[in-house]
Amino acid sequence: MSRIELQGLSRRFGSVTAVNDVWLDVADGEFVVLLGPSGCGKSTLLRMIAGLLPPTGGRLRLAGADITDVPPQQRDLAMVFQSYALYPHLSVARNIGFPLRARRWSRADIRAKVAEVAATLDLVELLDRKPRELSGGQRQRVALGRALVRDPGAFLMDEPLSNLDAKLRASTRAEISALHRRLGATMVYVTHDQVEAMTMATRIALLDGGKLEQVGTPAEVYDEPASVFVARFLGSPAMNLLDVNVRAEGGALTARATDVELGLGIDGEMPEREVVLGVRPEHLRPAGLAEPGIRAAVTAVENLGSEEVALCEAAARSICVRGPRPLGLRPGDRVNLTTRPEHLHLFDPGSGRRLA
Ligand code: ATP
Repeated sequence: MSRIELQGLSRRFGSVTAVNDVWLDVADGEFVVLLGPSGCGKSTLLRMIAGLLPPTGGRLRLAGADITDVPPQQRDLAMVFQSYALYPHLSVARNIGFPLRARRWSRADIRAKVAEVAATLDLVELLDRKPRELSGGQRQRVALGRALVRDPGAFLMDEPLSNLDAKLRASTRAEISALHRRLGATMVYVTHDQVEAMTMATRIALLDGGKLEQVGTPAEVYDEPASVFVARFLGSPAMNLLDVNVRAEGGALTARATDVELGLGIDGEMPEREVVLGVRPEHLRPAGLAEPGIRAAVTAVENLGSEEVALCEAAARSICVRGPRPLGLRPGDRVNLTTRPEHLHLFDPGSGRRLA
């Protein structure tokens, strides 16, 4: 069992609080992605789990035992970095076997284990090469192999794909997901790339300014973002956000602001109040000019191949619409944009937290 429990972990650097009271329970076999913008504290959090950096507050447990003060080499964890950190003068086989030599395994046992790991990662043909004779993707697989060979309780990965080109990133992403399924290992993975997080994670932990903003499955954080920050961070193009007054009464939700007049059927009541109203570009559609909606002027239309994105302006705000091609919109068009009530997200303008 390799459950990892973060119990109020914090880390200060002088006056900077890089990680602020993070509580997170990573179940055995989970693939948790720590996601957030540059400087949000994800690497600091991972380094604390690895034992490379002592926390200034909180406790850390692995498989039920408190490991807060256990040195890194005695934690049953393997870390994979973005810079592969391979030994340039050693062959692939010796790089992979290195942790076992350090543990004084016999040569025969090391050879057998390296062969097993090389087969798992499709590295058998490359065992005699030196790191400089490998592509970036192959080097990353060797780095993974070196982590795998120890049969650790859990893997910690810090942006392991960031040095790969887009195509290789996509295939290595799929390989890491497959590896996770095959091994059933616990993984904590750091990235600022929402596609990596959405495609690989069983749960995503979103961080902002050292604090945990939301933890949930990819579908949960995308479909029900807990805050304006999460709503903005996930999704491309980003969710449209508008300051409006809304009221829910008698089975109808009405939203009013200059150039916005939404009337949608809903359940529930809400007295009139100011909100930040969010709607994803793929959930807007052009409606008749006589219907209530967001009155907008189309400024540009981008052809993405299978889809089109229309950039619009409504009362000095930019609004983006995305849908299958052709959208039927052209620059200069005046349109009314509408949506369905289940696609609206309402946030408190002060705290940024989700209302409904
Ligand atoms: P990136 O994606 O850019 O790597 P990150 O989310 O991993 O960012 P961290 O590297 O964890 O962010 O840094 C979080 C905050 O802590 C930042 O403000 C950073 O400047 C600060 N920080 C990190 N390490 C140190 C350090 N050794 N000394 C001082 N401040 C630090």
